[in-house]
Amino acid sequence: MTQPTGVAVIGGGPGGYTAAFLAADLGLNVTLIDEAPDPGGVCLYRGCMPSKALLHVARVLTEAREAGKWGVSFAEPDIDLDRLRSWKNTVVSTLTGGLGQLTRQRNIDYLEGRAALVDAHTVVVTMTDGGTREISFDHGILATGSRPARPAALASEHDRILDSTAALEINRVPDRFLVIGGGYIGLELGSVYAALGAAVTVVEMTSTLLPGVDADLVRVFSRRFRSVTEAVLLDTMVTQLTADDEGVTVRLDGPTVAFNDQRFDEVLVAVGRVPNSGITGLGRTAVEVDARGFVRVDAQQRTAEPSLFAIGDLAGEPMLAHKAFHEARVAVETIAGHKVAFEPMVIPAVVFTDPEIAWCGLTETEAKAEGTVIAIARFPWGASGRAVTLSRTDGM
Ligand code: FAD
Repeated sequence: MTQPTGVAVIGGGPGGYTAAFLAADLGLNVTLIDEAPDPGGVCLYRGCMPSKALLHVARVLTEAREAGKWGVSFAEPDIDLDRLRSWKNTVVSTLTGGLGQLTRQRNIDYLEGRAALVDAHTVVVTMTDGGTREISFDHGILATGSRPARPAALASEHDRILDSTAALEINRVPDRFLVIGGGYIGLELGSVYAALGAAVTVVEMTSTLLPGVDADLVRVFSRRFRSVTEAVLLDTMVTQLTADDEGVTVRLDGPTVAFNDQRFDEVLVAVGRVPNSGITGLGRTAVEVDARGFVRVDAQQRTAEPSLFAIGDLAGEPMLAHKAFHEARVAVETIAGHKVAFEPMVIPAVVFTDPEIAWCGLTETEAKAEGTVIAIARFPWGASGRAVTLSRTDGM
């Protein structure tokens, strides 16, 4: 039997659960579908939250090591990976369990299973515990998020070749750890492994870490990052990965490592993320997908199919949780008949490395590229009393 609902939300990440909560708060009848037992999506289960929990541990380890210069010396830390992982998992279950509770409080029908579209008003869910449920809806919100990209050259499958999800499990601390990709996910996870004691190498195909971020900020970060890692190889490509039971042989090609084979114990592939637009049945609707796989939306998050909206990582860059939150609000308020649009003046972004880098709005790099004349004000942390008390005067 087909069960009717007002709004069906496919995907329970930051975009999906925000949309479901707001739609319920506005009095709409809501069904939320995700494969996990509770909402949370990539961000809570295998993204923002577990990575930030591990970065907190990295910070404590680093501060303990540096405390000697303040007259406080600690012994080398004894790291119990099982307890570390279990604490990280508790962080995840506390947060996702809380979202489950908020879902029930709002009388949202939460379906644990995989959704496929039958047409622009019907979804069929293959339930995790067996069986299927068919739901007809007035409006559907697609919030299926994204997954790690795996280009063909890096596609080999082995448990020593990790994506960000596997790296967050910290099954071991490898002696030599290679991070392929100098974006924020690779650098955050590389920082965690370096703090835990791995000798980390980062390889990045462009001429800078954190491509697109203002160069003066990246310079400050790079200086410190190079001091805690084995090597940072820029303008360098990985052309081949061969894994065996003992490690991974990596062929590198760049200015300092021409066709050089190096051995690592584990390799993290962090070369970007691709949207999950392969939703079964999407082709039976008028929804349009662009060349990069993002669903095309207008300023109200409407797709080309009048009953369907798309939000979050599925609907374009920047792939950030708070962008998904805001798009969810725009989509739901549009469904509720409010006059709204997604017209952000600024979207903040933070890289939670050490030191952290944050920006908001037009960056210096973008201003220069578009020929906008700007005035720059710089305040060095060295002139901040608070930074001096923390012994952290690097940067601005
Ligand atoms: P997602 O969180 O990807 O959720 C989509 C959900 O839909 C998933 O649960 C998926 O399983 C489900 N789904 C997909 N297809 C179906 C289907 N057919 N049926 C049922 N369910 C389906 N962002 C920040 O803002 N700050 C950070 O510090 C940060 N750190 C990150 C660290 C890492 C390691 C990673 C990987 C990402 C990080 N991000 C961060 C990015 C952030 O996680 C994403 O931008 C955010 O999760 C996007 O939310 P979403 O709702 O679009 O989709």
